[in-house]
Amino acid sequence: MKFIRLSHRNPTRCDSIAEAISRPGFGSQFTDHMVVIEYDANNGGWHSAIVGPRQPLLIDPAAGVLHYAQEIFEGLKAYRHSDGGIALFRPLENARRFNASARRLAMPEIPEKLFLKSLQELVEVDKNWVPEATNGTLYLRPFMIATEAFLGVRPATKYKFVVIASPSGNYFRSGESTINIWVSDYTRAAPGGTGEAKCGGNYAASLVPTGEAFSHGYDQVMFLDAVERKWIEELGGMNLFFVFADGRILTPPLGGTILAGITRDSLISLLRDMGHEVIEDRYSIANLKRDVRSNALVEVIACGTAATVTSVGRVKSSKYNIVIGSESAGPVAKAARDKLIAIQTGEASDSFGWVMRIGNAS
Ligand SMILES: *Cc1c(COP(=O)(O)O)cnc(C)c1O
Repeated sequence: MKFIRLSHRNPTRCDSIAEAISRPGFGSQFTDHMVVIEYDANNGGWHSAIVGPRQPLLIDPAAGVLHYAQEIFEGLKAYRHSDGGIALFRPLENARRFNASARRLAMPEIPEKLFLKSLQELVEVDKNWVPEATNGTLYLRPFMIATEAFLGVRPATKYKFVVIASPSGNYFRSGESTINIWVSDYTRAAPGGTGEAKCGGNYAASLVPTGEAFSHGYDQVMFLDAVERKWIEELGGMNLFFVFADGRILTPPLGGTILAGITRDSLISLLRDMGHEVIEDRYSIANLKRDVRSNALVEVIACGTAATVTSVGRVKSSKYNIVIGSESAGPVAKAARDKLIAIQTGEASDSFGWVMRIGNAS
């Protein structure tokens, strides 16, 4: 499909990039452009791909997304390499996960090639918004909404696929610090539900538990399984790894209630490559307490695209307070984070074939 390119009337605002990426808070500044592709089930499927000025969307007040929450999204970053070129990290995995989410929410799949092309088009037109290698990244947010005006309960026939972008500062430097986690009494995902889909609805339901974590002074919320309320699943938007003193590493298995993080998948490969035995198995909060007490457990690691790889210092609920090691960044987390970032930014060789270059070196 050919993208129609509408040039932006204003000169690019990216002279504010330094200010944009220095802001705390994530995702509050946006680039000049966006991609919009329309879908109509009764009129040829995907059509009218445009990369044009970023502007408000015009949708009917009866649009499906506003009533029955047919919305899915992805999140990935564009990295500036030291030769001036730009690269995406495993974007095909985002395309595949996006389509898996689409199937669960009864939305149309988008051809993987079109998904990738839309990322490429946006990064090319907004390439000046990609920060210098050591300063940050350009966060890309592809999403899809149901736009058909119809109040009956059935899948919509019309959708918009949109990609916007937001320059984000460096989380990398905060790598020395740890995050503290609040264990919620709320659950995130039940078997058979939408836990595996990256949909806005899951996030809407996580806002109260996350707010609870914040109000107790904690950085993130941890969810236990919805059935037995004892198995550790994941955080609001990050997956977890548990590192044992004997070098073994455990991560909860994907069973439909956990979001299949691309960072999680990458870490499994990287940690194995670093010589660790990585097991996908269930791990209970009771065993976490026991293993911390006996010093069998030495690190807890959280991971996701936004904050890459971070050590967990403390796990707390209204009933217990579990302090992990000396509450400092662990060596396995540090080594894995350094390795991952080196591959993403082109500093280390891409032996897994994860990096997709899109901008020409300058
Ligand atoms: C997006 C997301 C993650 C992390 O996935 P990455 O692909 O590593 O960014 C983890 N958990 C939830 C609930 C998410 O939405």
